Amino acid sequence: MQGDEKMNELIMKLKDHMKKIQQYQTIENLLYWDLATMTPEKGVDSKAEAIGYFSTEAFRLSTSEEYGALLRELSSPENYEALDDAIKVTVRRELRDYERFCRVPEDFYTEYVTLKARSQKAWETAKKASDFSIYCPYLDKIILMTKQYVRYMEPDQKPYEVLLDMFEEGIDSQTIDHLFKELKEGLRPLLKKIHQSGQPDLSAMKGTYPVSGQKKLQDMLLSYMGFDFTKGTTAESEHPFTSEIGYGDIRITNHFREEDPLAAIFSAIHEGGHAIFDQNIDPSYKHTAVMQVNMMGLHESQSRFYENILGRNPNFWIPVYDKLGEFLPDFRKIPFDTFCKAINFVQPSMIRIDADEVTYCLHIILRYEIERAIFNDEVTTEELPGLWNDKMEELLGIRPSCDAEGVLQDTHWSDGSFGYFPSYLLGSIYDGMFLEAIEKDLGSVDQLLSQGKIMEITNWLNTNIHQYGSLYTSHEVTERLCGKEVSAKPLLDYFYKKYSEIYSFSLSEQN
Ligand code: ZN
Repeated sequence: MQGDEKMNELIMKLKDHMKKIQQYQTIENLLYWDLATMTPEKGVDSKAEAIGYFSTEAFRLSTSEEYGALLRELSSPENYEALDDAIKVTVRRELRDYERFCRVPEDFYTEYVTLKARSQKAWETAKKASDFSIYCPYLDKIILMTKQYVRYMEPDQKPYEVLLDMFEEGIDSQTIDHLFKELKEGLRPLLKKIHQSGQPDLSAMKGTYPVSGQKKLQDMLLSYMGFDFTKGTTAESEHPFTSEIGYGDIRITNHFREEDPLAAIFSAIHEGGHAIFDQNIDPSYKHTAVMQVNMMGLHESQSRFYENILGRNPNFWIPVYDKLGEFLPDFRKIPFDTFCKAINFVQPSMIRIDADEVTYCLHIILRYEIERAIFNDEVTTEELPGLWNDKMEELLGIRPSCDAEGVLQDTHWSDGSFGYFPSYLLGSIYDGMFLEAIEKDLGSVDQLLSQGKIMEITNWLNTNIHQYGSLYTSHEVTERLCGKEVSAKPLLDYFYKKYSEIYSFSLSEQN
């Protein structure tokens, strides 16, 4: 009994400490949110400094001697075995991060965090001007500091491997190489078939779609999918993203263009998928590491499942198509079949977030290969625009005409998120597997969608994936739900089946 009391006391101490750290993180998240959505140009510096301050306070708490002693006590074999799974995961991850952070000098950490916050605005300015030279000095420093940061944390490991593992626990470049190769080889004949089939006439899509109507449509779609507006809200930013401000407050942003409603529609569905994940984590995991899903492959699998597997399925739109015309009258003149062809129009294009789900895979492979070159010291920052353009030609057969279409299009590197990009494709690879598992349990997804029963799918995802937060690694989740090793084959099967119908080609000739 006494032992139990002692253990409970230690667990309470752990949760209290994590709660304190999370209070600072909430402020930090709010500041980042403000920086991306509202902050005027001259307010950037003070926000960046404030982020540096709160982040450093959280860093101090994460590296305090008292916290280290607590984590070590909980991780001793006799204590650790008595813990429940969520606390075990928390102790294991917190101790790993504690040891990593303790090797990073505090001054360095503050400088790094502040630089990342400033760099985000520099990236925005450079992207608007399509001028890499504005952003180059920031990116150069971020690359340098990220390399140093990782060397401090894990001096004996290869930096890019550490980064990959930070965004998807348990993954390494060998596994990614294998999966991406499988995908690249499978995509080549598919893209050839699509190319030979000829493209549909999409001229009916041209029109003006006012931003106010797009926003109403976005909110309708989010509710339809299962986004809970009592636990989240929406805003606008240059690059759409989801932010977990704190428990019960999951926010998403979008970017609207009057001439292109599809971009905002699919960004909303994508970010909505992230938010639905975070909104449905079991509240009993509050103040444990399980609440934060840093496994971005798993997270992206959810956003991309909604965006692609569900959102680009013509059946998704059958119950809601009339609403599009209600909010945006120009949709009324678009035949349903043309709309379905437009949302599944496969063609190499410059911008990742606007790409179709098939060529999207190649956009990620490009970024993965460039990141590896950066961390293997094979390319200088100044050379990045050129390398980007060469790789676009090699993988997609097109060449950007300016930096905004090329190396400047994504925000990720501006906040030091190297190693994040592969998560998108890992997410899609998991999605191919999840689709098989869902259809085994619930029957045809086409049928559920056409009958407006999307919430049955959301509930399945809530029950089987979302509620557990990051209790299980992606590998454990795919193993548990799909009963097999991760493979790109289910995704390729899904692509071939779907696009042979849309582009009317025979599967038997596939090779
Ligand atoms: Zn995402």
